[in-house]
Amino acid sequence: MFDCTCPAGLFPPDRSIGAELESVCARHAGFSALRRAITQDHVGRIAVVSSFGAESAVLLALVADIDPSTPVLFIDTRQHFPETLAYRDELTRFLGLTDVRTIGPTNADIDANDPPGELWRFDPDACCRLRKVTPLERALAPFDAWVTGRKRHQALTRVALPLVEQVDGKAKINPLADWTAAQIEAEMVRRGLPRHALSTAGYPSIGCATCTVAVASGEDPRSGRWFGTGKVECGIHRLPETVD
Ligand code: SF4
Repeated sequence: MFDCTCPAGLFPPDRSIGAELESVCARHAGFSALRRAITQDHVGRIAVVSSFGAESAVLLALVADIDPSTPVLFIDTRQHFPETLAYRDELTRFLGLTDVRTIGPTNADIDANDPPGELWRFDPDACCRLRKVTPLERALAPFDAWVTGRKRHQALTRVALPLVEQVDGKAKINPLADWTAAQIEAEMVRRGLPRHALSTAGYPSIGCATCTVAVASGEDPRSGRWFGTGKVECGIHRLPETVD
C-alpha cells in the first residue's frame, strides 16, 4: 500500500496502485515537499546546497521552477575540476538562478591547516572538514532548512533516506530521494539541460579533482570517489538516525 501525498490527490491512500504510478506519485511528493519548504514552511530561511556535479541540474531546475531567487550554496574547495566551475556558471545562466553563492575555506583556514594543498593525501577526513564541512556549517548558520540532491539509489548509506529529516536542528529536504538514475536521465533529456563536461567522460559522480577518478561503464557510479580509501561520504551529510 502506498500513501500518496501527491498534491493533486490523484491516488487515494486506501487504494493499491501499480509500481509505475507509485513512482510518478513519489516524484510528485518530492516536488511538493520542495515547493512547500520554499514557499510556505521556510520562506527566506532555506538554501539549496549543490555540487554542480553530474546530476545536479535536475534539482536546480525544480528549484528554478519554484523560485529562481532561492539561495544556492556551492562549496569551492579550491580542488575542483575547472569543468565544475565552468558548469556552475553555465547552469546558473541557463536556469536563471539569481542567488548562487560560492562559499569555501578562508585564506586563513588554508594557511593554518593545509598550505601546500596536500592534506587530502594523508587525512581526507580532515581535508573534507577543512574545505567542505566547516565552510558549509558557517554558510548555513542563518538558515533553518536546506535542500540536498541526494538519492536513495546512490549508496548503501542512503537507502533509507527520507524526504524530509531533522539534523542538528535544521530541516533537510531531499526531494529527489526516490528518483532512480533512469528518471534523472529522462528528466535531463526532457528539459534539455546542459551536462557537466566530465559526466560523459567516465565521471558519473564528480567531487574534487584530487579525489575523483573515472569509472568503467556499469561500475558503481560513486566508486570513483576517494577511490581505494574506503571513504564514502565527505561528512556534510551525517547519517540520519533512521540509518544508524
Ligand atoms: S574531496 Fe578530497 S580534496 Fe576535496 S575536500 Fe575532500 S579530501 Fe579534500
